[in-house]
Amino acid sequence: MDLLVPSLPTPIQELSDIVIKKAGVHLFIKRDDLVHPTVSGNKWRKLKYSLQQAKELGATTLLTFGGAFSNHIYATAAAGANLGFKTIGIIRGEDPGERKSPTLQFCEEHGMQLHYVSREEYKLRNSSEYVDQLREKFGNPFVIPEGGTSELALKGVREMTIEVEQQLNSKPDYYAVALGTGGTSAGILTSGSDVLAFSSLKGGAFLENDIMELIRGSKDNGQFVLFTEYHFGGYARHTPELLDFITKFKYDHNIQLEQVYTGKMFFGLYDLMARGFFKKGSCIVAVHTGGLQGLLPELLYNS
Ligand SMILES: *Cc1c(COP(=O)(O)O)cnc(C)c1O
Repeated sequence: MDLLVPSLPTPIQELSDIVIKKAGVHLFIKRDDLVHPTVSGNKWRKLKYSLQQAKELGATTLLTFGGAFSNHIYATAAAGANLGFKTIGIIRGEDPGERKSPTLQFCEEHGMQLHYVSREEYKLRNSSEYVDQLREKFGNPFVIPEGGTSELALKGVREMTIEVEQQLNSKPDYYAVALGTGGTSAGILTSGSDVLAFSSLKGGAFLENDIMELIRGSKDNGQFVLFTEYHFGGYARHTPELLDFITKFKYDHNIQLEQVYTGKMFFGLYDLMARGFFKKGSCIVAVHTGGLQGLLPELLYNS
């Protein structure tokens, strides 16, 4: 990872406010948003060993999958440019032409070749025949699954939990984490810790199976609770209530959250604290998984 030097360990901070005080818990935030400027948060953790393996295998090109606002696509484009890989992004949906999302603009500027596929075709992204076809079509690239989520990703995420346990001198009672593909939650579970997972997408109940599938090969996994009701309309959707929460959180703690993942997770966590979900004295580590490249500009300039 020569040119992808991270700032490790990422800091951990204890948060304090009236909701936390009333709940009688200890709430820490693990600042993985600070791990690297462009390959941020859980995407750095999840890509680390895939990039290492690609290099060991002598691959010259990385191919991966994502939507127009995907933090993983962004991170892969940045990592590829840093490390000297060509990158190909299989992007869900129609070619937006001149009206590319800022994420896709960044990817193009960093040399990623964008290849748009229909939603139907995108559904095949995990099928081995389809992936073999892509390998043939694009000259045998190193293929990284959607979200970077793979066995290698779980190993990278576990290193985050090792840092936390050294920083706290113990395992926390819970990790709280935003949920997309489930790779980050699964990685933490395989470290033996318990996870509160907050789905950023609507109808996220299917993620329970996905997480079970990801941790199946591992023993002594932690337990998880999946929360599906804090989606605020669905993936990449938001409401004024969510944006107000993010603004207030920044005002109270001087930490920026974004509206796709971490804002929803913290909103859910604060709701649980207010509703007496936690035993007094519980220790919770909420993971700031980054994603600030996708921050709404209006949130940056608020407060
Ligand atoms: C991708 C992402 C997630 C979701 O991670 P999964 O491992 O796919 O569940 C959470 N937070 C942020 C900021 C992300 O970019």
